[in-house]
Amino acid sequence: MISVSKNNIYKFYVFYGTFIDTPKLGQLRIRQNTSVGVCTDENSDKVGVIEFIKENSKNPLEDAKEFDPSLTDSDVAIVDYTHDAHSSIFFLPGFIDTHIHASQYPNAGIFGNSTLLDWLQTYTFPLEASLKDLETAQIVYDKIVRRTLANGTTTAAYYTTIDADSTKLMGRICSELGQRALVGKVCMDSCSPDFYVESTQESLESCEEVVNFLQEELNDPKVLPILTPRFAPSCSRELMKGLAATSRSKGHLHIQTHLSENEGEIDWVKSLFPECKSYTDVYDSCGLLHNRTVLAHCIHLSDEEAKTIQKRGSGISHCPISNSSITSGECRVRWLLDQGIDVGLGSDVSGGHACSILACARQALLVSRHLAMKEKEEHDKEHVKLTVADALYLATLGGARALAMDQTLGSFEVGKQFDTQLVDIESQGSNVDVFHWQKSNFSPLKSTVLAPPSIAQEDILAKWFFNGDDRNVIRVWVGGKLSHTL
Ligand SMILES: [Zn+2]
Repeated sequence: MISVSKNNIYKFYVFYGTFIDTPKLGQLRIRQNTSVGVCTDENSDKVGVIEFIKENSKNPLEDAKEFDPSLTDSDVAIVDYTHDAHSSIFFLPGFIDTHIHASQYPNAGIFGNSTLLDWLQTYTFPLEASLKDLETAQIVYDKIVRRTLANGTTTAAYYTTIDADSTKLMGRICSELGQRALVGKVCMDSCSPDFYVESTQESLESCEEVVNFLQEELNDPKVLPILTPRFAPSCSRELMKGLAATSRSKGHLHIQTHLSENEGEIDWVKSLFPECKSYTDVYDSCGLLHNRTVLAHCIHLSDEEAKTIQKRGSGISHCPISNSSITSGECRVRWLLDQGIDVGLGSDVSGGHACSILACARQALLVSRHLAMKEKEEHDKEHVKLTVADALYLATLGGARALAMDQTLGSFEVGKQFDTQLVDIESQGSNVDVFHWQKSNFSPLKSTVLAPPSIAQEDILAKWFFNGDDRNVIRVWVGGKLSHTL
């Protein structure tokens, strides 16, 4: 391997080793001895982009020169960990967190026995309001971006608070620390506590101020605005329509909100918007649902609501840890996927206690098993269950699709951004114990006693999936740039 510095002096990087991704739901692709060439020339419009992928590569430097004969030896850096002492190391697309409240991070793990509506009042609103203080916001936002990067999250759709200045600060922090992000100032003008509410006009104006800052002043293509009406009960119809108009007028901006999380919430929405057919219809009738809209939770949807979401091309953020923690319910992920709806994973910190998308993927798999236990037919039981490959898909390409960013993110393909984590199952301090006979290069010894069974590479991956954590994430690159080193 070579040591890589944050200040790229090379025009081109070739990453060499085992690449694992999920190009389709349920499909695990493992490519060994593979070279992935990435442009790192800051003066090129291809910077950060995967330019070639060569399987069965023998010489990564030659691969680069074959791709572009004008490259010299000194232009190219080779990142190769295959010569390290062990073989349980691989590149994986960076995780995509499609729903996370950066402002709630200090409350991660603090939720008591609450459910959604009392959780908001007791824990959440007072904390969010306190982040108007820029020093507090700096501490919290810096910490959550570093922590998610350390857990392999290369893209996150963030909620901040209603405050514009600290939201701009969050945009700056994501840019400086090198994380791809959608940054959303929370908008709320109704049914909210006196100490944490805006007028409709204030909300629309400060939202526009943040969008302009991110697009024109910060001007980092990795950090984009996302319009963020908190959820229907805290937004007037006028505010939601205004945000839909802002999305249209500013180039089809992303939108994020919550939908159908908790039964008490659904009843409340019914009483606030009696003219609407359903909770989904509240958003749809305001023009908020399009293909760059991501909806968190969607646990208790009717068939008709799912159909509307599918028709609009909106994505869903499945937040299984949050849904279990604050007793919201079990999202029927397979049912959504079967209808062609894009689903990604969200940590939903701090309804969810973990900002690790690997932890969310595990929980998604377990929640699907709970749903399977309720099915009567054996075939349905099997169908509802998510596999490791399914859960990794949701954590990467599924998330990219839910955010309508799959043209550039979520898997290893030529033309996509190199947003990648390097996972070492046997890193120092790893929680995953791989026994020598379980390694892929192990050849069973001749023995008079029964040799322990060797296992497939997929099984090694499953060991990491269920037992791994941030100690296994030894490098993270976003757009070809190193953003985290263990
Ligand atoms: Zn949320």
